[in-house]
Amino acid sequence: EAKARGGDRRHWFDAEMDEQAQRTARLSTDLLGALDRDEFFLLFQPIVELPHGRAAGVEVLLRWRHPEHGLVSPDVFIPLAERNARIVEIGRWVLESACRQAAEWQRRFGAQAPAKISINVSARQLAEPGFVAEVEDILARTGVDRAALLLEVTETAVLEAGAPLEAVRELRERGLRVALDDFGTGQSSLSLLLTVPVDVLKVDKSFVSGAAADHAGAVIVEHLIGFTNGLRIEAVAEGVETEDQANRLHAAGYSLAQGYLFGRPATATEIESRMLPAPVA
Ligand code: C2E
Ligand code: MG
Ligand code: MG
Ligand code: MG
Repeated sequence: EAKARGGDRRHWFDAEMDEQAQRTARLSTDLLGALDRDEFFLLFQPIVELPHGRAAGVEVLLRWRHPEHGLVSPDVFIPLAERNARIVEIGRWVLESACRQAAEWQRRFGAQAPAKISINVSARQLAEPGFVAEVEDILARTGVDRAALLLEVTETAVLEAGAPLEAVRELRERGLRVALDDFGTGQSSLSLLLTVPVDVLKVDKSFVSGAAADHAGAVIVEHLIGFTNGLRIEAVAEGVETEDQANRLHAAGYSLAQGYLFGRPATATEIESRMLPAPVA
């Protein structure tokens, strides 16, 4: 075996591929029981106002603690959950847990509670016929003020089918706000903005991190803000890591940003001690 692997690159390569495929298959299977085993938890990353960095809200980010592999990145397990359809139940858990947390903050901190709670929603969830009713159900059960909620969908998600578009419209008719996430990474970003009615545009970090160094990135970032202003859409710059990026974004007209510069994803307790005042009662 060892000789075959060492002496023949192709066999060695196949073995690697095999290991990768096996790990993926294993993770996918493990995902099926992860909710029941209580392996998910939520982190919250601040969204702030520029230039001072005052808290404007938080984005809810899902984490999976695998018993053997430790923390698995959502960039790895969300696509798997979308493929094995578990995303529907997992997404429901995220929505309900996030709304429960948001309602608790609203009760404890009143007007000082995070003004915006951004929750990622997958295309598979949006395409479920009962999704809007389910959202209403969760809102009623948790008692959260819907005015604080923002549902984030990626452009690729919206492009996948016509059904999500209908759901987006209906959610907005019901007073929920919708954000287009990772804007600029998809195929038809600009035309999508004209057909999908959204409240917020999250400009992808690939443009933001490019903004300081790379001319094309800077030009795109600067023109997007004019575009969103004209359409009365709020823009949030994602992935801000340096003061220089923050300054340039502010100079370009951005008033909302998110990134490691202002805070990494953190637990609810950490968010409370960093962003929120001491509770009144
Ligand atoms: P996203 O919605 O675009 O979330 C922002 C991601 O960028 C997060 O990664 C966040 O930790 C990361 N980030 C924030 N600031 C910075 C920065 O300054 N620099 C860099 N390099 N990265 C930064 P995370 O938490 O690993 O999540 C990755 C993606 O997984 C999310 O991208 C989202 O698409 C998906 N995801 C996360 N939670 C959920 C969820 O509950 N449901 C669904 N459907 N998708 C989720
Ligand atoms: Mg997001
Ligand atoms: Mg994003
Ligand atoms: Mg992303």
